[in-house]
Amino acid sequence: MLPDQQLLRIPGPTPIPPSVQRAMSQPMIGHRGTETKELLRRVKPRLNPIFGTEQDVLLITGSGTAGLEAAVANTIHPGDEVLVIVTGAFGERFAKICEAYQAKTHRYQVEWGKAVSPAAIEEYFKKYSSIKAVFATFSETSTGVLNPVQALAAVVHKNSDALFIVDGVSSVGGVEVKMDEWSIDILVTGSQKAMMLPPGLTLVALSEHAWQVIDNKKQPPFYLDLKKYRSLDSTPFTPALPLLFGLEKVLELIEDEGLEQVFARHQLLMKMTRAAFRALDIPLLTNDDSASPTVTAVKPDDFDPEKLRSVLKQEFGLETAGGQQHMKGQIFRIGHMGYCSPADILQTISIIEISLRKIGNKVELGKGTRAAQEIYLG
Ligand SMILES: *Cc1c(COP(=O)(O)O)cnc(C)c1O
Repeated sequence: MLPDQQLLRIPGPTPIPPSVQRAMSQPMIGHRGTETKELLRRVKPRLNPIFGTEQDVLLITGSGTAGLEAAVANTIHPGDEVLVIVTGAFGERFAKICEAYQAKTHRYQVEWGKAVSPAAIEEYFKKYSSIKAVFATFSETSTGVLNPVQALAAVVHKNSDALFIVDGVSSVGGVEVKMDEWSIDILVTGSQKAMMLPPGLTLVALSEHAWQVIDNKKQPPFYLDLKKYRSLDSTPFTPALPLLFGLEKVLELIEDEGLEQVFARHQLLMKMTRAAFRALDIPLLTNDDSASPTVTAVKPDDFDPEKLRSVLKQEFGLETAGGQQHMKGQIFRIGHMGYCSPADILQTISIIEISLRKIGNKVELGKGTRAAQEIYLG
Protein backbone atom coordinates (compact mmCIF):
# COMPACT_ATOMS: atom_id res chain seq x y z
CA MET A 1 0.00 0.00 0.00
CA LEU A 2 1.19 3.47 -0.85
CA PRO A 3 1.50 5.65 2.23
CA ASP A 4 -0.88 8.59 2.11
CA GLN A 5 -3.06 7.02 -0.55
CA GLN A 6 -6.52 6.49 0.82
CA LEU A 7 -9.39 5.00 -1.10
CA LEU A 8 -12.32 5.97 1.05
CA ARG A 9 -15.36 3.92 0.10
CA ILE A 10 -17.28 4.09 3.36
CA PRO A 11 -20.76 5.62 3.49
CA GLY A 12 -19.44 8.80 5.06
CA PRO A 13 -17.25 10.63 5.56
CA THR A 14 -16.69 10.60 1.82
CA PRO A 15 -13.80 11.91 -0.31
CA ILE A 16 -13.55 15.66 -0.83
CA PRO A 17 -13.03 17.04 -4.36
CA PRO A 18 -9.64 18.79 -4.60
CA SER A 19 -11.24 22.11 -5.56
CA VAL A 20 -13.43 21.92 -2.46
CA GLN A 21 -10.39 21.06 -0.34
CA ARG A 22 -8.63 24.14 -1.68
CA ALA A 23 -11.64 26.37 -1.14
CA MET A 24 -11.73 25.33 2.49
CA SER A 25 -8.17 26.40 3.17
CA GLN A 26 -8.91 30.10 2.72
CA PRO A 27 -7.97 32.41 5.58
CA MET A 28 -10.69 33.15 8.11
CA ILE A 29 -13.06 36.06 7.70
CA GLY A 30 -15.16 37.91 10.27
CA HIS A 31 -18.27 35.88 10.98
CA ARG A 32 -20.35 39.04 11.53
CA GLY A 33 -18.93 40.98 8.60
CA THR A 34 -20.27 41.61 5.13
CA GLU A 35 -18.15 38.86 3.59
CA THR A 36 -19.93 36.20 5.63
CA LYS A 37 -23.32 37.75 4.97
CA GLU A 38 -22.64 37.76 1.26
CA LEU A 39 -21.33 34.20 1.36
CA LEU A 40 -24.51 32.99 3.09
CA ARG A 41 -26.67 34.91 0.63
CA ARG A 42 -24.84 33.30 -2.28
CA VAL A 43 -24.94 29.80 -0.86
CA LYS A 44 -28.30 29.27 0.85
CA PRO A 45 -30.76 29.70 -2.04
CA ARG A 46 -28.75 27.27 -4.16
CA LEU A 47 -29.54 24.49 -1.69
CA ASN A 48 -33.25 24.67 -2.54
CA PRO A 49 -33.19 22.44 -5.64
CA ILE A 50 -31.14 19.82 -3.80
CA PHE A 51 -33.85 19.61 -1.10
CA GLY A 52 -36.67 20.08 -3.59
CA THR A 53 -38.08 22.94 -1.58
CA GLU A 54 -38.84 26.64 -1.77
CA GLN A 55 -38.33 26.87 1.98
CA ASP A 56 -35.10 28.16 3.50
CA VAL A 57 -32.46 25.55 4.14
CA LEU A 58 -30.93 26.22 7.55
CA LEU A 59 -27.24 25.66 8.24
CA ILE A 60 -26.25 24.48 11.70
CA THR A 61 -22.78 23.62 12.91
CA GLY A 62 -22.79 20.02 14.08
CA SER A 63 -22.87 16.54 12.57
CA GLY A 64 -26.01 15.06 11.00
CA THR A 65 -27.29 13.89 14.36
CA ALA A 66 -27.45 17.51 15.54
CA GLY A 67 -29.93 18.15 12.73
CA LEU A 68 -31.96 15.07 13.70
CA GLU A 69 -31.96 16.21 17.31
CA ALA A 70 -33.01 19.72 16.24
CA ALA A 71 -36.00 18.21 14.42
CA VAL A 72 -37.11 16.45 17.60
CA ALA A 73 -36.20 19.14 20.13
CA ASN A 74 -38.11 21.86 18.26
CA THR A 75 -41.33 19.94 17.68
CA ILE A 76 -41.86 17.31 20.38
CA HIS A 77 -43.23 17.88 23.89
CA PRO A 78 -42.68 15.35 26.67
CA GLY A 79 -45.45 12.78 26.48
CA ASP A 80 -46.20 13.33 22.78
CA GLU A 81 -46.81 10.11 20.91
CA VAL A 82 -44.50 9.60 17.98
CA LEU A 83 -43.98 6.82 15.48
CA VAL A 84 -40.46 6.00 14.39
CA ILE A 85 -40.00 3.72 11.42
CA VAL A 86 -36.92 1.68 12.24
CA THR A 87 -35.32 -0.06 9.26
CA GLY A 88 -31.79 -0.07 10.68
CA ALA A 89 -29.32 1.68 12.96
CA PHE A 90 -30.24 5.21 11.94
CA GLY A 91 -33.96 4.68 12.44
CA GLU A 92 -33.08 3.37 15.88
CA ARG A 93 -31.05 6.51 16.52
CA PHE A 94 -34.08 8.68 15.71
CA ALA A 95 -36.11 6.64 18.20
CA LYS A 96 -33.46 7.15 20.89
CA ILE A 97 -33.48 10.90 20.29
CA CYS A 98 -37.28 10.92 20.68
CA GLU A 99 -36.93 9.01 23.93
CA ALA A 100 -34.31 11.45 25.17
CA TYR A 101 -36.96 14.17 24.72
CA GLN A 102 -39.47 12.03 26.59
CA ALA A 103 -41.75 11.33 23.67
CA LYS A 104 -43.95 8.28 23.97
CA THR A 105 -42.05 6.48 21.23
CA HIS A 106 -43.61 3.74 19.13
CA ARG A 107 -41.16 1.89 16.96
CA TYR A 108 -42.31 0.25 13.76
CA GLN A 109 -39.56 -2.31 13.30
CA VAL A 110 -38.67 -3.61 9.87
CA GLU A 111 -36.25 -6.45 9.28
CA TRP A 112 -32.81 -5.05 8.44
CA GLY A 113 -32.27 -5.09 4.69
CA LYS A 114 -35.95 -4.50 3.89
CA ALA A 115 -37.74 -1.25 3.16
CA VAL A 116 -40.86 -0.30 5.07
CA SER A 117 -44.21 -0.89 3.39
CA PRO A 118 -46.41 2.23 3.27
CA ALA A 119 -49.49 -0.02 3.49
CA ALA A 120 -48.24 -1.35 6.83
CA ILE A 121 -47.92 2.20 8.14
CA GLU A 122 -51.45 2.92 6.94
CA GLU A 123 -52.63 -0.06 9.02
CA TYR A 124 -50.68 1.26 11.94
CA PHE A 125 -52.66 4.50 11.98
CA LYS A 126 -55.85 2.50 12.55
CA LYS A 127 -54.46 1.48 15.94
CA TYR A 128 -52.82 4.75 16.95
CA SER A 129 -54.60 7.94 16.07
CA SER A 130 -52.87 10.45 18.31
CA ILE A 131 -49.42 10.34 16.70
CA LYS A 132 -47.84 13.82 16.61
CA ALA A 133 -44.94 13.02 14.33
CA VAL A 134 -43.69 10.20 12.16
CA PHE A 135 -39.95 9.75 11.68
CA ALA A 136 -38.40 7.91 8.76
CA THR A 137 -34.97 7.35 7.26
CA PHE A 138 -34.72 7.91 3.51
CA SER A 139 -31.49 6.04 2.79
CA GLU A 140 -30.86 3.68 5.72
CA THR A 141 -27.08 3.71 5.65
CA SER A 142 -26.69 0.67 7.90
CA THR A 143 -28.41 -1.62 5.38
CA GLY A 144 -28.32 0.17 2.03
CA VAL A 145 -32.11 0.43 1.84
CA LEU A 146 -33.93 3.37 0.29
CA ASN A 147 -37.29 3.76 2.00
CA PRO A 148 -40.29 4.96 -0.04
CA VAL A 149 -40.62 8.36 1.65
CA GLN A 150 -42.90 9.83 -0.98
CA ALA A 151 -45.51 7.12 -0.42
CA LEU A 152 -44.98 7.27 3.34
CA ALA A 153 -45.60 11.02 3.35
CA ALA A 154 -48.87 10.46 1.51
CA VAL A 155 -49.99 7.83 4.02
CA VAL A 156 -49.06 9.95 7.03
CA HIS A 157 -50.89 13.03 5.77
CA LYS A 158 -53.95 11.08 4.66
CA ASN A 159 -54.38 9.49 8.06
CA SER A 160 -53.25 12.17 10.51
CA ASP A 161 -52.08 15.71 11.19
CA ALA A 162 -48.70 14.36 12.21
CA LEU A 163 -45.50 15.95 11.00
CA PHE A 164 -43.50 13.74 8.66
CA ILE A 165 -39.82 14.07 9.51
CA VAL A 166 -37.13 12.53 7.35
CA ASP A 167 -33.48 11.68 7.97
CA GLY A 168 -31.97 12.44 4.57
CA VAL A 169 -28.38 12.30 5.74
CA SER A 170 -27.04 9.77 3.25
CA SER A 171 -29.49 10.67 0.49
CA VAL A 172 -29.87 14.44 0.02
CA GLY A 173 -27.48 15.48 -2.74
CA GLY A 174 -27.27 11.96 -4.17
CA VAL A 175 -30.91 10.94 -4.52
CA GLU A 176 -33.76 13.01 -5.89
CA VAL A 177 -36.03 14.31 -3.18
CA LYS A 178 -38.96 16.68 -3.64
CA MET A 179 -39.63 17.90 -0.17
CA ASP A 180 -42.45 20.32 -1.07
CA GLU A 181 -44.17 18.15 -3.65
CA TRP A 182 -44.01 15.03 -1.48
CA SER A 183 -45.00 16.98 1.68
CA ILE A 184 -42.06 16.22 3.89
CA ASP A 185 -42.25 18.47 6.94
CA ILE A 186 -38.65 18.36 8.06
CA LEU A 187 -35.74 17.11 5.98
CA VAL A 188 -32.25 16.84 7.45
CA THR A 189 -28.88 16.11 5.96
CA GLY A 190 -25.22 16.27 6.96
CA SER A 191 -22.20 17.59 5.13
CA GLN A 192 -20.03 14.45 5.03
CA LYS A 193 -22.17 12.13 2.90
CA ALA A 194 -23.44 13.02 -0.58
CA MET A 195 -22.62 16.70 -0.03
CA MET A 196 -18.88 16.11 -0.59
CA LEU A 197 -17.75 18.06 2.48
CA PRO A 198 -16.03 17.10 5.71
CA PRO A 199 -18.26 16.44 8.73
CA GLY A 200 -19.42 19.42 10.75
CA LEU A 201 -22.41 20.95 9.06
CA THR A 202 -26.03 19.86 9.22
CA LEU A 203 -28.67 21.22 6.87
CA VAL A 204 -32.35 21.34 7.77
CA ALA A 205 -35.40 22.47 5.82
CA LEU A 206 -38.90 22.82 7.25
CA SER A 207 -42.44 23.08 5.87
CA GLU A 208 -44.95 25.80 6.84
CA HIS A 209 -46.70 23.23 9.01
CA ALA A 210 -43.47 22.40 10.82
CA TRP A 211 -42.81 26.09 11.41
CA GLN A 212 -46.30 26.52 12.90
CA VAL A 213 -45.63 23.70 15.35
CA ILE A 214 -42.22 25.16 16.16
CA ASP A 215 -43.53 28.69 16.65
CA ASN A 216 -46.01 27.34 19.20
CA LYS A 217 -43.52 25.19 21.06
CA LYS A 218 -42.90 26.14 24.66
CA GLN A 219 -39.36 25.65 25.96
CA PRO A 220 -37.36 25.51 22.75
CA PRO A 221 -33.79 24.23 22.97
CA PHE A 222 -30.99 26.79 23.06
CA TYR A 223 -28.21 26.04 20.53
CA LEU A 224 -30.55 24.05 18.33
CA ASP A 225 -33.48 26.49 18.47
CA LEU A 226 -34.36 26.48 14.76
CA LYS A 227 -36.12 29.84 14.93
CA LYS A 228 -32.73 31.44 15.54
CA TYR A 229 -31.43 30.07 12.24
CA ARG A 230 -34.22 31.58 10.12
CA SER A 231 -32.13 34.24 8.49
CA LEU A 232 -30.84 34.35 4.97
CA ASP A 233 -27.57 36.08 5.74
CA SER A 234 -26.58 35.38 9.31
CA THR A 235 -26.21 32.51 11.75
CA PRO A 236 -26.93 32.77 15.48
CA PHE A 237 -23.53 31.39 16.47
CA THR A 238 -20.14 31.31 14.73
CA PRO A 239 -20.64 29.25 11.58
CA ALA A 240 -18.15 26.59 10.47
CA LEU A 241 -16.68 29.01 7.94
CA PRO A 242 -14.34 26.55 6.16
CA LEU A 243 -17.33 24.31 5.49
CA LEU A 244 -19.24 27.26 4.07
CA PHE A 245 -16.31 28.08 1.76
CA GLY A 246 -16.35 24.43 0.71
CA LEU A 247 -20.11 24.38 0.32
CA GLU A 248 -20.01 27.20 -2.18
CA LYS A 249 -17.59 25.18 -4.30
CA VAL A 250 -19.68 22.02 -3.90
CA LEU A 251 -22.73 23.86 -5.21
CA GLU A 252 -20.74 25.03 -8.19
CA LEU A 253 -19.65 21.44 -8.91
CA ILE A 254 -23.22 20.16 -8.62
CA GLU A 255 -24.54 22.94 -10.85
CA ASP A 256 -21.80 22.33 -13.44
CA GLU A 257 -22.56 18.62 -13.56
CA GLY A 258 -26.32 19.25 -13.41
CA LEU A 259 -28.44 18.00 -10.52
CA GLU A 260 -30.25 15.48 -12.73
CA GLN A 261 -26.91 14.11 -13.86
CA VAL A 262 -25.72 13.88 -10.25
CA PHE A 263 -28.73 11.70 -9.44
CA ALA A 264 -28.26 9.66 -12.62
CA ARG A 265 -24.58 9.11 -11.73
CA HIS A 266 -25.55 7.72 -8.32
CA GLN A 267 -28.01 5.35 -9.99
CA LEU A 268 -25.28 4.19 -12.32
CA LEU A 269 -22.81 3.64 -9.46
CA MET A 270 -25.42 1.59 -7.62
CA LYS A 271 -26.16 -0.53 -10.69
CA MET A 272 -22.49 -1.13 -11.47
CA THR A 273 -21.82 -2.18 -7.88
CA ARG A 274 -24.80 -4.50 -7.68
CA ALA A 275 -24.11 -6.08 -11.06
CA ALA A 276 -20.53 -6.82 -10.01
CA PHE A 277 -21.49 -8.75 -6.86
CA ARG A 278 -24.25 -10.55 -8.67
CA ALA A 279 -21.78 -11.70 -11.32
CA LEU A 280 -19.43 -12.88 -8.58
CA ASP A 281 -22.29 -14.82 -6.96
CA ILE A 282 -21.97 -12.87 -3.75
CA PRO A 283 -25.38 -12.05 -2.22
CA LEU A 284 -26.54 -8.48 -1.65
CA LEU A 285 -28.46 -7.59 1.49
CA THR A 286 -31.22 -5.66 -0.28
CA ASN A 287 -33.29 -6.34 -3.36
CA ASP A 288 -33.19 -4.09 -6.42
CA ASP A 289 -36.50 -2.36 -5.66
CA SER A 290 -35.36 -1.03 -2.32
CA ALA A 291 -31.66 -0.46 -3.03
CA SER A 292 -30.12 2.85 -2.06
CA PRO A 293 -28.21 4.70 -4.80
CA THR A 294 -25.60 5.82 -2.24
CA VAL A 295 -24.57 2.69 -0.34
CA THR A 296 -24.56 -1.03 -1.05
CA ALA A 297 -24.51 -3.72 1.62
CA VAL A 298 -23.05 -7.10 0.66
CA LYS A 299 -23.89 -10.24 2.64
CA PRO A 300 -21.42 -12.98 1.72
CA ASP A 301 -22.26 -16.59 2.48
CA ASP A 302 -18.85 -18.18 1.95
CA PHE A 303 -16.28 -15.79 3.41
CA ASP A 304 -15.80 -13.56 6.41
CA PRO A 305 -16.42 -9.94 5.41
CA GLU A 306 -14.11 -8.73 8.16
CA LYS A 307 -11.26 -10.77 6.72
CA LEU A 308 -11.85 -9.26 3.32
CA ARG A 309 -12.10 -5.73 4.72
CA SER A 310 -8.81 -6.15 6.46
CA VAL A 311 -6.99 -7.14 3.23
CA LEU A 312 -8.66 -4.29 1.35
CA LYS A 313 -7.39 -1.86 3.92
CA GLN A 314 -3.94 -3.31 4.63
CA GLU A 315 -2.87 -4.05 1.08
CA PHE A 316 -4.72 -1.50 -0.97
CA GLY A 317 -5.69 1.30 1.37
CA LEU A 318 -9.31 0.70 0.40
CA GLU A 319 -11.61 1.44 3.26
CA THR A 320 -15.08 -0.12 3.37
CA ALA A 321 -17.56 -0.26 6.24
CA GLY A 322 -18.56 -3.29 8.27
CA GLY A 323 -21.98 -4.12 9.61
CA GLN A 324 -23.50 -2.25 12.53
CA GLN A 325 -25.02 -3.82 15.64
CA HIS A 326 -26.26 -7.38 14.97
CA MET A 327 -25.05 -7.17 11.34
CA LYS A 328 -21.44 -6.92 12.48
CA GLY A 329 -19.42 -9.70 10.83
CA GLN A 330 -22.31 -10.51 8.49
CA ILE A 331 -22.15 -7.73 5.93
CA PHE A 332 -19.81 -5.13 4.53
CA ARG A 333 -20.86 -1.86 2.98
CA ILE A 334 -19.54 0.20 0.11
CA GLY A 335 -20.29 3.89 -0.02
CA HIS A 336 -20.73 5.31 -3.52
CA MET A 337 -21.95 8.81 -2.93
CA GLY A 338 -20.73 12.34 -3.44
CA TYR A 339 -17.33 12.57 -5.07
CA CYS A 340 -17.47 9.09 -6.58
CA SER A 341 -17.31 8.12 -10.23
CA PRO A 342 -17.62 4.97 -12.36
CA ALA A 343 -13.80 4.89 -12.38
CA ASP A 344 -13.84 4.59 -8.59
CA ILE A 345 -16.30 1.70 -8.73
CA LEU A 346 -14.23 -0.18 -11.32
CA GLN A 347 -11.19 0.24 -9.10
CA THR A 348 -13.12 -0.85 -5.99
CA ILE A 349 -14.56 -3.97 -7.61
CA SER A 350 -11.26 -5.03 -9.10
CA ILE A 351 -9.51 -4.60 -5.73
CA ILE A 352 -12.25 -6.63 -4.06
CA GLU A 353 -11.79 -9.45 -6.59
CA ILE A 354 -8.06 -9.70 -6.04
CA SER A 355 -8.51 -9.48 -2.28
CA LEU A 356 -11.07 -12.26 -2.35
CA ARG A 357 -8.39 -14.45 -3.93
CA LYS A 358 -5.99 -13.36 -1.20
CA ILE A 359 -8.35 -14.68 1.46
CA GLY A 360 -8.71 -17.97 -0.38
CA ASN A 361 -12.00 -17.38 -2.14
CA LYS A 362 -12.12 -18.87 -5.60
CA VAL A 363 -13.71 -16.02 -7.54
CA GLU A 364 -12.92 -15.68 -11.20
CA LEU A 365 -10.83 -12.54 -11.57
CA GLY A 366 -12.44 -9.84 -13.66
CA LYS A 367 -15.93 -11.29 -13.61
CA GLY A 368 -17.38 -8.58 -11.38
CA THR A 369 -15.38 -5.84 -13.05
CA ARG A 370 -16.63 -6.97 -16.41
CA ALA A 371 -20.25 -6.90 -15.24
CA ALA A 372 -19.76 -3.35 -13.96
CA GLN A 373 -18.12 -2.37 -17.24
CA GLU A 374 -21.05 -3.77 -19.16
CA ILE A 375 -23.50 -1.76 -17.09
CA TYR A 376 -21.43 1.31 -17.81
CA LEU A 377 -21.51 0.63 -21.53
CA GLY A 378 -25.26 0.19 -21.26
C1 LIG B 1 -24.31 9.39 8.73
C2 LIG B 1 -25.75 9.35 9.05
C3 LIG B 1 -26.30 10.08 10.13
C4 LIG B 1 -25.57 11.09 10.95
O1 LIG B 1 -24.45 10.74 11.57
P1 LIG B 1 -23.46 11.83 12.16
O2 LIG B 1 -22.34 10.99 12.58
O3 LIG B 1 -24.14 12.52 13.28
O4 LIG B 1 -23.18 12.80 11.06
C5 LIG B 1 -27.66 10.01 10.33
N1 LIG B 1 -28.45 9.30 9.54
C6 LIG B 1 -27.98 8.62 8.49
C7 LIG B 1 -28.95 7.90 7.62
C8 LIG B 1 -26.62 8.63 8.21
O5 LIG B 1 -26.15 7.97 7.15
